[in-house]
Amino acid sequence: MPQKGLKILIIGGVACGPKAASRVKRLLPNADVTIIEKGNIISYGACGLPYYVEGFFNKIGILTETPIGIARTPVFFEKVKGVVVLVRTEALGNLKILISRFMAYYNIIKRQRSRTL
Ligand SMILES: Cc1cc2nc3c(=O)[nH]c(=O)nc-3n(C[C@H](O)[C@H](O)[C@H](O)COP(=O)(O)OP(=O)(O)OC[C@H]3O[C@@H](n4cnc5c(N)ncnc54)[C@H](O)[C@@H]3O)c2cc1C
Repeated sequence: MPQKGLKILIIGGVACGPKAASRVKRLLPNADVTIIEKGNIISYGACGLPYYVEGFFNKIGILTETPIGIARTPVFFEKVKGVVVLVRTEALGNLKILISRFMAYYNIIKRQRSRTL
């Protein structure tokens, strides 16, 4: 499969979204992968929430951490995995409109990222 210029948009950034994004980047390192998440926290184990509520640990951010204690933030995904993550961004409307808006938005983000990273 050609991967240069391949753009993949993943909607939802809790467990399956970041997992899928990471897998795509391993298989197709040159693909441009973007995750959009309407909330503001990504890549956390929701299964751990009951332990937090129970008081097993007191920092909820632990649920986003790697085994060596690094938080899986949007910056982490961008710098370590090469995946762009847009939080507080909700996919609305029908798929055709979403894709055309995404492409316009994607080009703006790409230009901004190349200036700031
Ligand atoms: C208390 C609890 C205990 C659990 N225990 C276990 C367990 O023991 N074992 C197990 O295997 N699983 C468990 N799970 C389930 C496991 O955590 C889920 O399988 C996992 O959270 C699913 O992740 P997901 O990414 O598919 O979806 P979700 O967690 O549903 O996340 C979807 C994300 O997509 C975002 N989103 C949705 N629509 C849009 C949109 N239009 N635009 C932008 N963003 C959008 C949402 O904001 C959300 O953040 C548990 C879950 C909970 C809450």
